[in-house]
Parts: sequence; structure tokens; C-alpha cells
Amino acid sequence: MAPPPANATPTRKDTLMRKHARNLLLHSLAATLLAGAALTAVSTTGDEASASAKPAAHGATNATKAASWPVLKTGSRGTDVFTAQHLLAARGHTVKADGAYGKNTAAAVAKFQKRAGLRVDGVVGPKTWAKLTALTLRTGAKGPAVKALQRQLGLHPDGIYGNKTYNAVRGFQTRSGLKTDGVVGPKTWTALIAGHTPAKPKPGGTKPATTAIALARQLLTKPGITYATRHAKTVDSASTAYRNIHDMAKGIGAATSPHSHVGSKRVQLDPRMLKALITLADSGYRLQISEFVGGTHSKKSRHYRGLSFDANIINGKHVGSGAPHKKVMNLCRTLGATEVLGPGNKGHNTHIHCAWK
Ligand SMILES: [Zn+2]
Repeated sequence: MAPPPANATPTRKDTLMRKHARNLLLHSLAATLLAGAALTAVSTTGDEASASAKPAAHGATNATKAASWPVLKTGSRGTDVFTAQHLLAARGHTVKADGAYGKNTAAAVAKFQKRAGLRVDGVVGPKTWAKLTALTLRTGAKGPAVKALQRQLGLHPDGIYGNKTYNAVRGFQTRSGLKTDGVVGPKTWTALIAGHTPAKPKPGGTKPATTAIALARQLLTKPGITYATRHAKTVDSASTAYRNIHDMAKGIGAATSPHSHVGSKRVQLDPRMLKALITLADSGYRLQISEFVGGTHSKKSRHYRGLSFDANIINGKHVGSGAPHKKVMNLCRTLGATEVLGPGNKGHNTHIHCAWK
């Protein structure tokens, strides 16, 4: 319902932009390599490569299968930071798992890099991730590495690899096209953190993505669409628009907020809505999504079923303050949305709402 404020501190935006730039770089790399060689491509791309990443040609649907490790550095926050901190702890480094990449985390990373024979820069890029995740977890495992895994799966991080974790891993492996054995090795770690899935060539080749997971991954390569990293009125980092879209891309579904009418659960974002966002981006609109399924809405809101998005910034302007909201609302209708609200509608003076049935 209510739109988060202008979002994102500059740091967060930088991170998002870097992620996009990195995606594009890796996708262009992947396009020139056999899909099976994508992992190799990443490991030979130095951690430093992200700095010079330029948006490059993209669009090949199979390119969405390239791995794209998040780059973590001082100021980074969120699930991937928790993951890295747990993995550092698993290697004997004393670091508090608080999800915030501060001086202590950077120092622990530097120590880890030195010991692992990596370039020492205190930044977690592809090479550091590869070393951090070079461990195998299976049923019965205990400790911080299991917590790292559980963070990625959206589970309560109790550090015990029991049935619940086993089932979640198997579910994730099935959805990602990996061997469903409940054993977390390099491929599963890569799929979880970097979003890589092995290439599965289909007859007919370059069919457009149709599943919600594939669409979410495709959407993450669209530089025009950004996602709020907090809510307007409530606090729940697991259900922000940013987390929703990344969790969809990982195949674990988008989390609703514990403050909402439906409580905390996981739902799938509707493929028609994701497709519409891709079309909006391809039509040249730059949107900030303020909510998908997170936040609080009306009791029977379609948000809670993954059928709607809210956007509060269009082409750099706030909705209600000069943004071309009518054009976007009309395009939503054209793309099949049956509940389209914006300035002039109650509670929608600063954001638009497009919902599918
Ligand atoms: Zn809404």
C-alpha cells in the first residue's frame, strides 16, 4: 500500500548498479563461451574485473545462466554478507555475523585472502567466494557453514543440517536443474549465491523464458528496474522488493512480511507480472519497485499472492511529482493488469499499483 521513501542510500544504489553491470559483463562473456564453460569464465575473471564492467550487449536467453557472484565490500549489507561472515567463521576467523560489512569483516576477509593465496583487498569477489565456498555440506553437518547455507535458503539459521535443511536443499537442486542429492558442493553453492544453473539445451534453442524463476533472473539483467531495500512503514529485510526478486531468481520464492495480514510465508511472483516488468524496461521506462509481496497492504491484497507490484519512482521522478505514471499505468493495462491504481486513487498518491488476476 504505502510506498517506501526514495529508497536506497547511494551505497546501496552503487551496489545495485555494480550488480547490474557485473551481470551484463558476465552475460556477454557467457555468450561467447560454451554454456558449460561459464564457471571457468567466472573463475578466470579476477575480482578486480567488476570495477571496469561496462554494460555490454545482452539478450541471449541462455546467457541468464551465467554465474554472477555478488561483490561484497565495506558498506554492503544483507543475506550475502551474513553468508560470507558465517563462512569466514567456519574457517576460524572471528567475525560477528550481523549482515553488515564493516571494518572487522573486511579485516577478516583480508586475512582469509592472504592465507588462501589470493590478492589481499578485503573485498569478496568471485575468486574469494570460490575459496570461501570450497566445502561440502551434507546431513549431519553442524556449525557456521550450515548457517551460511540456511541464510541462502531463507531458513532459520540454527547451524544444524537436519531434515528441514535437507529437504530445502533438494528442492532447490531440483528447481535449479542440479543433481538432487542433498549434498551441497561447489555447484550448489554457486547456484545459491551466484545464481548459476547448468545449461540445459532444449530443442528449438532460444525460446524466451517462461517460468517465473527464469523471468526473475532475466529481470535482474535489466538495468532500468531497481528494487527498494526497505519498506515504508515496517522493518523486515527478508521481504523487501530487492529480496523478493533475488529470492525468486534463486528459486526459493518471495517472502511476505511477518507484519502483514498473511504473516511470514513464501509465495511465487506471477510470471505475467514479471513479463510485464521486462516489457516496461524494454520500452525504456526506469522503475523503482517499492513492494512485491512484502510490506503491509489491504487484507485481501493481491500483493500477498504475488500478483502485483508497486512502483514509487519512474524515470528518476517520484510518482505524484512529475513521473509519467499515466503512461506506465496504461501500459500495465495493455499488458493484462486488471487492477491499476495511482495518483487520484485513495492511498496511491505517491506510487502506482499494477495487479494481475
Ligand atoms: Zn499496491
